[in-house]
Amino acid sequence: MTDDAASVDAAAPAADPQTAANFGFEADVARLLELMTHSVYSERDVFLRELVSNAADACEKLRYEALSDEKLAAQAAAPLVTISLDKDKRTLTIADNGVGMSREELISALGTIANSGTRAFLDKLGKEKDAGFIGQFGVGFYAAFMVADRVEVATRRAGEDQAWLWSSDGKGSYQIASLPLEAAPAVGARVTLHLNADSDEFLDGWRVESVVREHSGAIAAPIDLIAAPGEEPRRIAEGVALWTKPKSEITHEQYVDFYRQLSGQLDEPALIAHWRAEGRTEYTVLAFVPGARPFDLFDPARKSKSKLYVRRVLISRDMELLPAWLRFMRIVVDSADIPLNVSREMVQKSPVAGAIGKAIATRILQELKKLADAEPEKFAQVWKNFGSVLKEGLHEDPSRRDDLFEIARFASTKSEEQTRTLKDYVANLRENQTAIYYLVGDDMKRLRASPQLEGFRARGVEVLLLDDAVDAFWVTSALGYEGKPFKSVTQGQADIDSIALVEDAKTETTPPADVADLLAALKETLAEYVDDVRASTRLTDSAVCLVAPDTGFDRQLSRLLAEHGQQAAFGKPVLEINPRHEAIVALATALRAKGREAARDEQFLLLDLARVADGEHPIDAAAFTKRLTALLASRG
Ligand code: ADP
Ligand code: MG
Repeated sequence: MTDDAASVDAAAPAADPQTAANFGFEADVARLLELMTHSVYSERDVFLRELVSNAADACEKLRYEALSDEKLAAQAAAPLVTISLDKDKRTLTIADNGVGMSREELISALGTIANSGTRAFLDKLGKEKDAGFIGQFGVGFYAAFMVADRVEVATRRAGEDQAWLWSSDGKGSYQIASLPLEAAPAVGARVTLHLNADSDEFLDGWRVESVVREHSGAIAAPIDLIAAPGEEPRRIAEGVALWTKPKSEITHEQYVDFYRQLSGQLDEPALIAHWRAEGRTEYTVLAFVPGARPFDLFDPARKSKSKLYVRRVLISRDMELLPAWLRFMRIVVDSADIPLNVSREMVQKSPVAGAIGKAIATRILQELKKLADAEPEKFAQVWKNFGSVLKEGLHEDPSRRDDLFEIARFASTKSEEQTRTLKDYVANLRENQTAIYYLVGDDMKRLRASPQLEGFRARGVEVLLLDDAVDAFWVTSALGYEGKPFKSVTQGQADIDSIALVEDAKTETTPPADVADLLAALKETLAEYVDDVRASTRLTDSAVCLVAPDTGFDRQLSRLLAEHGQQAAFGKPVLEINPRHEAIVALATALRAKGREAARDEQFLLLDLARVADGEHPIDAAAFTKRLTALLASRG
């Protein structure tokens, strides 16, 4: 920070040069500004959306602060945003009677990147050089520099008796000087854009009106337009909170605009639900399933964020009303039954909020089910975006399991895409099949190639293929579906002997070789690494595979736990060999002829082979290489 009174713009004569100070922008802001000033985006008009929404936010903030502060209550007039145009001066001004900013707030809010959406935008920009996606993000205040070569903010913080002028040309630094009260808004902020040579269009009243109607029509503060100095203000947006209107009076476009304001994303919502609950607690909900994944979907905090209003006063923009597995939802809740004068923390913990959250979750699940039934393709996209999040609920929220099972979609040995429901699965059970079989892993391609699936395929038994991290958890906690337990194909004895082979599999079957000696040899040689060795019914094409013992964890879950440092959970696996496979037959024969010791290398190779098929490393890479090389050499 350097004091540099000389840099204060002469165009702002009202500011007091004695108090002026010059500040450098935070590095990220400078980068963003560079981008904004040199932008050639067709979506430049997003700057209006951003500034109008800041103005409306500031009005809401003041109404909220006024609840607990009588002095502020006196200042909080009916919220109003006014846009004025001046062709001669080439300015577009957005004024509000909201909370305003103190000097410190100006520095922290307009000198740094406060907005996580902007941060996400910059991160994405780091990866993709083309910024054509700018409009998908709430880039915030700095969007003003797309159309202006100088921006001034005259503001007075509600409750304070000092006013400030912030100004910048968006080239690395900004200035703040104190402003005589008569030159500042009585309360709120006035943002003046000195439009650049390419931005004449925003001096035109009709153009500005159409942009505001398009992007900001559903905003909760009324918007007036003064199209030229001295003209009467004309109301261009009513500022009626959208959710308070009857559904029949709201157009699809208004819902979509509102969703975009709320989410800071520019996609079309995949589902819109708007309802009023009456009864013990009364509230209105407007809920959206986004059409695209929000950038913070896999944020480790896993917090759901609902905008909570109490009688149209914004209490919190990130209330955790919904469970974590619904965190992708964008929702507004307005209730008259939550006391206005309590702190956010108290609202969060209040039983009323808990009950409202539960009821909303129930309704959202119903709406999702309806969508799944009525528009399966649309729902498929929702599931693709958010299925892995919804499935967290199967594990965390047992009371929701049945409802979630109704909408869950899976890939399986019978479907490439995630299209199979559990209902489909159960309708497709083979005779004598007693369980719902699944295979979990992290790589769908490897899952499909798993040797453990072969015996199931040969019998026409469908296996669910689960490749989300959360899958390893819910399959162990869920008891089953329609009386059929979930069972991993990599765990325990495959109890599928009693299920008939399908026709074309039968013809390939040769009688099993006598592998008793080989089994005994393997058990002894590999005792350190495996719990047991047995002849397999689950293999048809492969020679070997590894499975988990009958009790304990599935292999994928063991692996996940081991990754999190819980070594103890990782028990020894069982090695299964296929007594019909020619490699096994050959090894059994060699063993009889040459004795156990001579065939030792081959026994280790079998184990390593099974490990590699599971995506693991050989037990000892050097020994494995030596053995395999020797085997290749012996072919000469
Ligand atoms: P966001 O609105 O997402 O926080 P912005 O970049 O749009 O990000 O704005 C940054 C901050 O600047 C806001 O959070 C707010 O504190 C402050 N701000 C911007 N415009 C106004 C305004 N008209 N009145 C009061 N504060 C404002
Ligand atoms: Mg903003």
